[in-house]
Amino acid sequence: MPDQDRRTDLAVEISDLNRTFGDQEVLRGVDLSIGRGEFVAMLGHSGSGKSTLLRVLAGLDTEVGGVVLAPAERAVVFQNPRLLPWRRTLDNVVFALRGPDAVVRARDALAEVGLAAKEKSWPLTLSGGEAQRVSLARALVREPQLLLLDEPFGALDALTRIKMYQLLRDLWGRHRPAVLHVTHDVDEAILLADRIVVLSDGVLSLEIGVDIPVPRSRNAAGFAALRERL
Ligand code: ADP
Ligand code: MG
Repeated sequence: MPDQDRRTDLAVEISDLNRTFGDQEVLRGVDLSIGRGEFVAMLGHSGSGKSTLLRVLAGLDTEVGGVVLAPAERAVVFQNPRLLPWRRTLDNVVFALRGPDAVVRARDALAEVGLAAKEKSWPLTLSGGEAQRVSLARALVREPQLLLLDEPFGALDALTRIKMYQLLRDLWGRHRPAVLHVTHDVDEAILLADRIVVLSDGVLSLEIGVDIPVPRSRNAAGFAALRERL
């Protein structure tokens, strides 16, 4: 997959993307562009092809038709944090890095997600929310230009999820990767994203935020109200 042209304002450009498994056409002529630093949410029913599209963007699936341009530096966070259970928390983040400053950078990343005190903990002793925060730290420590999130909060309880929304928005504000956040939770998409696209049976059927702007002010106001009540 070629590196996206650095002169454009786009982080991702997909045109006429097709993916079939046997006779099943899972993605059918998908067009999608994501600007640098833009936060896009993708909604869709289970089985609509969201994870398939995300895997293509992650470079994990190249058996596709059409044009896919994405930055070389990208990171993925899945619903399951996928931490290595035999490595302590800090080592799970260091693992994503190379170079002499790897440990320092990993410590900074853990501190950024509020887990400095857990650096020596084993992954299996972390709560679901903590494990997912480690997973976010591991993704962002490489300063990706594209962050791909596949229902990252789907396994968390509602209160933990709200705290994760705040954390993710803060992290995004500081690092400014382009984000494609896959979810089937409409409220989550509205609260987090600047633009929402809807995948339906492998076709991008609706785009909210271009013609109908997502109310950005709702993010700030919503978080402020939530913070007061938590
Ligand atoms: P979503 O993430 O929106 O729930 P997926 O992208 O996981 O949907 O799956 C879309 C469709 O593609 C499903 O019908 C699924 O069974 C099929 N599919 C996904 N990956 C494979 C695969 N590796 N082999 C065969 N079928 C697959
Ligand atoms: Mg999926």
